[in-house]
Amino acid sequence: MSDWVKAKVTGKHAWTQGLYSMRLDGPIADFTAGQYIKVAMDIAGDRVGRPYSLVNPPQERPLEIYFNEVPDGPLTPRLSDLDPGDEVWLSAKAGGIFTLETVAPTKTLWLLATGTALGVYLSILRTPDPWERFERVVLVHGVREAADLTYGEMLDGIAARQGERFSFVPVVSRAEVPGALRGRITDLLTSGTLESVLGSRIDPSDSHVMLCGNSAMIKDAKVILEGRGLIRHKRQAPGQYTTEQYH
Ligand SMILES: Cc1cc2nc3c(=O)[nH]c(=O)nc-3n(C[C@H](O)[C@H](O)[C@H](O)COP(=O)(O)OP(=O)(O)OC[C@H]3O[C@@H](n4cnc5c(N)ncnc54)[C@H](O)[C@@H]3O)c2cc1C
Repeated sequence: MSDWVKAKVTGKHAWTQGLYSMRLDGPIADFTAGQYIKVAMDIAGDRVGRPYSLVNPPQERPLEIYFNEVPDGPLTPRLSDLDPGDEVWLSAKAGGIFTLETVAPTKTLWLLATGTALGVYLSILRTPDPWERFERVVLVHGVREAADLTYGEMLDGIAARQGERFSFVPVVSRAEVPGALRGRITDLLTSGTLESVLGSRIDPSDSHVMLCGNSAMIKDAKVILEGRGLIRHKRQAPGQYTTEQYH
């Protein structure tokens, strides 16, 4: 992923202070839903690049990333300052194996996200793959505040197209929000609340779980899933959960 191509910012949306979607027009190679590109800017003589999952499905353009500003981070405060017409660098090729290609067919696909990790699943869910390969798809999005529940229209569109096969569960940790569960995803797994709301249990015989987001959620979820008998997927030894850690 060391070759860079120039891209233009074509749109920026601030969902809340510090939470952004950015649209980019750049000539990257074909990619698979679930992969990330590196976005870079030249800062004080250095090219500073960070990986971002693509939110758009492979068949759609513009490219889109979804990110939050890390106040002391080298890249994100500068990235969020950009406006349409400004330029960034992109890795010419997307990378990563957090895709459905590494998931064996099973009954239920569970997609667990914290924060901006929602984006990777929005790409996957807008391809035919999950709907051809799984009977049911459950998306769980954990955030701190109600305002961090984003992409509502897009999620409504997926729900309208897929009907009962798709369930979306918003989870908010710091506030009581109508229609959302209160707490942390991992606590709601431990208590059984999440599965009882969905009327479905995560079981190695009929489930695959994808985990994406912060290290605390992934670390705690791994312990819970392994306690249920799920094994981490490896190329040589297929298992029932896969992970991608953002930070
Ligand atoms: C494979 C992969 C895909 C990624 N995809 C995305 C994505 O789609 N959207 C996205 O927002 N981020 C994503 N990230 C994280 C992203 O690459 C950057 O680390 C992040 O945007 C911060 O960049 P920065 O240069 O400002 O700070 P960095 O130098 O990268 O990080 C500074 C500090 O902030 C922490 N940090 C990093 N990200 C966050 C965050 N989101 N919230 C709080 N603390 C954080 C880091 O652990 C570090 O301690 C991804 C990371 C990986 C490894």
